[in-house]
Order: sequence, then C-alpha cells, then structure tokens
Amino acid sequence: MAFAPFSRGLHEVAPNCWAWFEPPGSWGLSNSGIVRIGDEVLVIDTQNDVGRGRAVRAAATDIGGPGAVTTVVNTHEDGDHWFGNMFFEDARIVATTAAAKGMRTLRVDPRRLSEVGAEGTALRRWSRWRASIYDYEGWRPVYPTETFDGAHTLRIGDGAVELHEVGPAHTGGDAIVHVPDAGVVYAGDILFHRSTPIVWAGPVSRYIAACDVVLSLEPAVVVPGHGPVAGTSGVREARGYLSRLLDHATRCVEAGIPVEQAYRSFDPGEYRLWPHASRALQSIRAVYAEFRPECDGLSWQDAMEIVLADDAS
Ligand SMILES: [Zn+2]
Repeated sequence: MAFAPFSRGLHEVAPNCWAWFEPPGSWGLSNSGIVRIGDEVLVIDTQNDVGRGRAVRAAATDIGGPGAVTTVVNTHEDGDHWFGNMFFEDARIVATTAAAKGMRTLRVDPRRLSEVGAEGTALRRWSRWRASIYDYEGWRPVYPTETFDGAHTLRIGDGAVELHEVGPAHTGGDAIVHVPDAGVVYAGDILFHRSTPIVWAGPVSRYIAACDVVLSLEPAVVVPGHGPVAGTSGVREARGYLSRLLDHATRCVEAGIPVEQAYRSFDPGEYRLWPHASRALQSIRAVYAEFRPECDGLSWQDAMEIVLADDAS
C-alpha cells in the first residue's frame, strides 16, 4: 500500500487504520488517528479546536457506526492533540498520568488566545494568526478519564493496541500507540515528519530514545503528530536531527556559552531546509535546563519571541 497523500482530511494508511491530516502541519495543525478493531473504534488525538474536533468525531463515527467510538488516546498534553476531547465524552479517554496532569495546568486558555504576548511582538502576531484559524466558540476542556504509566495494553473490540510511555521527551508525558497487527505506530509529536521538531520538556536524550522505541517496533507505517506519513527512514531523520542538536548544545553547555549564542551558531546540516528551523532555540534550551539552567536566562516569552521572529515558514 503506497503512503497516503498529505491532503486535508481522512486517509487510510493500512487496513483498518486511518489518519486525519491538517496540512501543512505547522503550529497546531496536527494529525489524528482512527483505528477499527472488531466493532469498536479508537481515536488517537482529537485535534486543536471545535471545528476540527467535530470533523474527526464524524469521520470516526462514519467508520464504525453509531456507538462504535469507545476509546480515545491523547498522546500528550499539547492542546492541538486534545482540545477536541469535548466531542468524545461518551468514550473513555486515556493518557499518561503526566500528560493528564499537564492538561490541567494550561499555559494559555485557548479562548483567550489572541491576548497572548505584548502588542507589537512576534508572539502577539502569532497568537492573532492562530486565533484567526482556530475556532474555540463554545470550547471547554474535557480531561482524560483513565491514566497509565510505562507500557500498557489497551483492549479494544476483540483485539488490543499497545501504548508506550516515552516521555518526558517532547512534553512531560508523551506516549505512542502501536497497532501490532497492522504494523502502524501513531507517534504523536515524537515525530514531526520533514519539519523541525521542538522540545518543550526534554531531556533531548529521551526524545532520541523515544525515536529508538518507535524504530524497535519495526513499523511499516508511522503516523506523525505533524506532517505526512513516514516509514522508519523518517524517524531516523528526526533522530539524526536531534542527535546533531544535542551534540552541539552539549558542547555549548560545557563551554558556558549563552543559550542564544548556542542557537545562533547551530548548523542543522542536512536538515537546514526543514521548516521552522528557529525551533532549535527552544530545543537547545531543554539541554541547558538539564545541565546548566543558569546559562539560559531567557523566559518562555523571550524564547518564543526569538523563535517566532526568526520563523520564516
Ligand atoms: Zn503537536
């Protein structure tokens, strides 16, 4: 089966496995997954807003029929992967304990998105742009109803999928979903396919280890959190980028170089054409947070201002 094209909406990626794509996959435009096992349907990540959450719910109900959507997995705490949970209140909603905790301490209430950042800043322009493409009219948070830690078998219909907690990595509580019978991994934001990843939590070494967990499962198809469907080569590329960034940031930490200088001197090499190269600043900060936080000196707002001002894509 050829890889599905990266166009908006529902695509079959393997027998009984689908992905919902939101191209181009940039800030908050994320993918969802739908898996049918027996007479039940699992949804992986529920999109970023009301319209998109409703659309994925409708697609999942079409696939399984009324009452078939029994289970949701949220791969992590970022809003673009769970803000559509309000359309799945009739299902059990599963996440890692750490992700469920993170969801309850939102940095930004999406209903007040356009107010983020001071007037005239790149952060404010970015917030306004996001407020213009996402719809939070009537939105409310709906949290996971079940949590797990480590590895977890999730029984669905007459079969099961395997959940693997791989965080903290991208965020504090990342998980991936393995559908062994189909050879599919839904990787959440462990994979930003053909685009620059961002490390909110780290350690970066654990993000790299999370790529290794995906590779160890030898999937035929990897559905990333953002971007088009990948094979294992796409995961190896992401691993290569993160290893290069970790090497550079570690050298800078050891030399006591300020974090912004470490960012300015980072050469992404063969990954330089990936969009959102400036996310490297935040990922380098994760290395500093681990080994030498006193050499960072940037607040989240300071860092985002640089990331967004330099984000040409
Ligand atoms: Zn995401």
